[in-house]
Formats: sequence, structure tokens, C-alpha cells
Amino acid sequence: MKVLIANIGSTSFKYRLFDMSNEAVLAKGGYERVTDYGDAIEKSLAEMKASGALTRLEDLAAVGFKTVLAKGILGCAELTEDVLKAMEAMNDVAPSHNPPYIAGIRKFREKLPRTPLIGLFETAWNANAPEAGQRYAVSEQWCEWGVRRYGYHGASHRYVTERVAKLLGRDDLRVISCHLGGSSSIGAARGLRSFGNSLGMSPQSGVPHNNRVGDLDSFAIPFLMKSHGLTLDQVVKAMNKEGGLLGISGVSNDIRDVDAAAKQGNKRAQLALDVFTHSIRHWIGAFMLQLNGADAIVFTAGIGENRTEIRAGVCKDLDWFGIKLDAQKNAVVQRGQEAVISADDSRTKIMVVPTNEEIVVAREAVKLLESKRK
Ligand code: AMP
Repeated sequence: MKVLIANIGSTSFKYRLFDMSNEAVLAKGGYERVTDYGDAIEKSLAEMKASGALTRLEDLAAVGFKTVLAKGILGCAELTEDVLKAMEAMNDVAPSHNPPYIAGIRKFREKLPRTPLIGLFETAWNANAPEAGQRYAVSEQWCEWGVRRYGYHGASHRYVTERVAKLLGRDDLRVISCHLGGSSSIGAARGLRSFGNSLGMSPQSGVPHNNRVGDLDSFAIPFLMKSHGLTLDQVVKAMNKEGGLLGISGVSNDIRDVDAAAKQGNKRAQLALDVFTHSIRHWIGAFMLQLNGADAIVFTAGIGENRTEIRAGVCKDLDWFGIKLDAQKNAVVQRGQEAVISADDSRTKIMVVPTNEEIVVAREAVKLLESKRK
């Protein structure tokens, strides 16, 4: 069974084609600076045909999407028009994510009208976390309207948690997964179930992101509007595009540039790295207390997999907890490799596990197809 996973960004389109009989990747590719998703989809399908990975479009059992948020849908769903409308209803909460996905999915529907299009919502993994961690202290009415801490990056935290269970040979683990990339979140899991996530109602909250603000006291918004005359659109744009590493450093939204500037003595760049690290530690600490410890702290995604210094900064001075990083092991982690980077006598294993969100979506898509067949 062949399943195509489409990853749609605001200006990018990436794909991976799986043979689900053995989870082999038959093809992968993508386009940056995309202005027309239809064109990118067309070209990608042509590439897959030309390479022999997909001889006939009818061989595609489904196209899967790592969809973000839809009103009232927290799991895996066939992307009917009703589901797309439920996504549209949440566009204000996920303005960088939902509109491009909806546009891309509609283009797929035009090109492949008979192929099931399936979305695994990023909120799915955290949907069964304890209610106390998902509830904001707002009225019942607001909660019913959907104001709650959903948590995101579900496919990534799920992949990492399940992979660590496999690597360590136990499924009763307390795992804290640090998905650190263009957008970042800290997830906690106990016994292969999500316990909590640093992202809240929107994918803009929690730890600072590349150019999104992360946690911010909501009363900053009326203050900025009433005392400083900003419009709501200006505030939203600033929080969504001009915050995070970029906002603090004034240098770049890419941690490589921020780090280079900090090494040259740029104090704002150094502060951006410090705020980022501080916030990650804050969330790890919160989850360690709630879980009464951690069997593994795991780093993943672009920054988590590639930035030795960030991992070192996050794990610094935790010896009181029995958590000890091995600096040598941390320094030699090869790109794309799984590694244990804690000292042999560390109470908690510290690990690097490259994420694979696409395979999680593909597996869930297959499960949905099979459940529909029964
Ligand atoms: P992601 O969202 O997981 O693709 O991560 C993107 C971010 O990870 C970029 O903004 C970079 O800051 C960082 N990153 C990605 N690749 C590397 C790399 N090879 N070395 C260092 N940092 C990287």
C-alpha cells in the first residue's frame, strides 16, 4: 500500500512517498518559495512517476497531511469539506499553518478526486493528557468555544516517545521530548500517553520560536493597543512574525545566525539564546515535577538534533537531580543519528532522536483506511 505524505508550509511543499508494507521511503522531495500549490503538486507527482516510485496515480491508497487544528476534531480524520470548514473556523488560532494547508488540500482534491485525503491533527497526541493540564482558568463558556491548551507537534512527540520506548525496551517510561526547530515545544509522556505539552491553544505559545513569541501575558495585548495605539492586526503580526529569536536578537530567525552573532559579541543575540534555553529548562522542570522524575530527556528537530551548545545549555547544572550530560558524547552526535549523550551514571538518559513525523501520519492514515474497510 502506497501512502503519500504532503507537508505544506506557508511557502513550501515537501512530500514523502511510503510503501507501507515495510515503511520504506520510495520517493521524497519538495519545493521552496511556492506560490502555486497546484503547480508544486503536479511537479511532485510527475517526479514520482518519472522515477518509477508511483507508476499510476490509482496506486496511491491515500494522501496524508500533518494538519494542525480543526474545531471539534482532535484525532485522525478524512479531510472532507466539513473538516476543511472546521479547520477554517480556527484560522485565527493557527494563521501560519491552517490557511496554506487548506489551500494545498483543496488542490489535492482537484488533482486526485478519488483518493482519500487524511489528516492527522497535531493536537491528536495530547488530547488524552490529564484535563488539569489542558484547562485554562477560564469560564465554561470560553472552554466550550475552544479556548484550551491543545498542545501541538503531536506526531513528533509521539514518534520520539514510541522510539525511545523501543530503544530502551520499556513502555512504562516517563519521557520529556524537546522538539526544538523553527517552532519548538516540550512534550511530556508517561507510559506511551501524552502527559502535557508546552504549546497551548495556538502553535504560537510555550517556548520562544524562530519568529513567534511563545508565552506572553495576555494583558500585554490591551496594554499595547490602548496605551501605545497599536491595532490588533499589528499586535498579531508582531507576535507571529517579529517575535521569538528574531525579535530578541534583531539578527535572524535562524539560530545559526543568532549563534554566530552572539559569538562575535552581539549581546541581544546572546540574550535570545539565553531566553530560549531558560524557557526550555522551565518546561522540562515543570514536567519533571509533575511526572515525579524522567527516564529520558530527548532532543529532536532542526535545533535539537544539530545544536550541541543548546543541548549542553539545557542540561547544564542538573547534577542535583542526578542528570548528567557527557560533553564528549554530546559533541560528536552525527547528523541524523540516534545517540545517548548522558554520562553512564546519569539517572535520566539524555538522548538525541531524529524525528519522523511523516511515518506517524502514514501509519495513522493506514489505520483509518483499514477501520473504514471493516
Ligand atoms: P526545523 O523546524 O525542525 O526544520 O528546524 C529549523 C531550525 O533548525 C532552523 O531555523 C535552524 O535554526 C536549525 N537548524 C536546522 N538545521 C541545522 C543544522 N544543520 N545545524 C544547525 N542548526 C540547524
